[in-house]
Amino acid sequence: MIIGVPKEIKTLENRVALTPGGAAALVRQGHTVLVETDAGRGSGLFDEEYIASGASMVSAEEAWGAEMVIKVKEPIASEYQYLRDGLLLFTYLHLAAERDLTTALLEGGTTAVAYETVQLANGALPLLMPMSEVAGRMATQEGANFLKKTNGGRGVLLGGTPGVAPARVTVIGGGVVGMNAAKMAIGLGADVTILDVNHQRLQYLDDVYGNRIRTVTSTEPNIREWVAKSDLVVGAVLIPGAKAPSLIVEDMVKTMQEGSVIVDVAIDQGGCCETIKPTTHEDPVFDLHGVVHYGVTNMPGAVPRTSTFALSNQTLPYAIQLANKGLDALRADRALALGLNTYKGKLTCPAVGEAFELFS
Ligand code: NAD
Repeated sequence: MIIGVPKEIKTLENRVALTPGGAAALVRQGHTVLVETDAGRGSGLFDEEYIASGASMVSAEEAWGAEMVIKVKEPIASEYQYLRDGLLLFTYLHLAAERDLTTALLEGGTTAVAYETVQLANGALPLLMPMSEVAGRMATQEGANFLKKTNGGRGVLLGGTPGVAPARVTVIGGGVVGMNAAKMAIGLGADVTILDVNHQRLQYLDDVYGNRIRTVTSTEPNIREWVAKSDLVVGAVLIPGAKAPSLIVEDMVKTMQEGSVIVDVAIDQGGCCETIKPTTHEDPVFDLHGVVHYGVTNMPGAVPRTSTFALSNQTLPYAIQLANKGLDALRADRALALGLNTYKGKLTCPAVGEAFELFS
């Protein structure tokens, strides 16, 4: 199969869908890999590395002209011209929030497999998970950074020092983001508390981390208590498909000590803190009630090199299946079949259809 890898052109998107190692794996299986010139530069991956892997560097038109196109972000308006019958597109799509793109895919007759709806039998979303792992780990790093007095914070070091108590870090939601945030906070020596509504999840976290963390059932009074006494609060809840619940309400924020930090990773689902607003990497924080609020919606974008490898490690095995078997790969792998969002002009993802009925 001929596989195209266009350069990402969404603002400040520096990831690329395929590494030189991934290109080599596809070439070894007999496929032709066309990578747009400079596609990997933002992730520190250069054209020479792709060429050495057996790929060819081409224009955007040539990359999009391939039988299968692998991307990171959903196509933006200027890329809709490339959507056509006979094209297999494998990328993040988030169609429920993208009516114009859905129309463009359907009118073009493109067959599109979305990373975010590939789902394993146990319900896990293997192609979303790597970005949650990155964002969770970053949440603690960013929190530590904005706790510095020089950055508007309380002037607290997460791990404390001999003779000085460590900072209190509270993580609300102990899923992939929460566990990764906690792991970093434990590593830095903070006093870590994780709240979740799922008792089995708390049992799991307790088994893994033992007395290096405190697990607390997520109820309104417990959130109120732990938010008030924390230096850093990480919002990491998810109710799949739904807007994040407002768990940290404004009067709880007012009880926090001046210079404390909230990193609301769930901001991409609206945020779980009532006072959070979406922010950007250029202007990541704002102050409200003396509390530093961080609400960057695309946290992994700040570390494109790590994110590119984290994402492509997970997408490559599926890309190889699609390249080897075409759409028969969907018949052979139920997880991948759940990724199918559009097929030759038909919408095949029920959640997307439901979203649009709600819009109309
Ligand atoms: P996940 O499903 O692995 O974990 C979510 C956890 O929240 C679950 O353990 C669940 O039991 C818990 N939860 C649900 N309701 C709760 C409540 N009322 N109180 C406490 N816990 C509750 O999800 P995840 O992969 O960790 O993602 C978390 C959020 O981070 C999502 O909104 C995701 O989209 C977002 N995210 C944001 C970025 C970013 O750049 N900002 C990047 C990656 C992920």
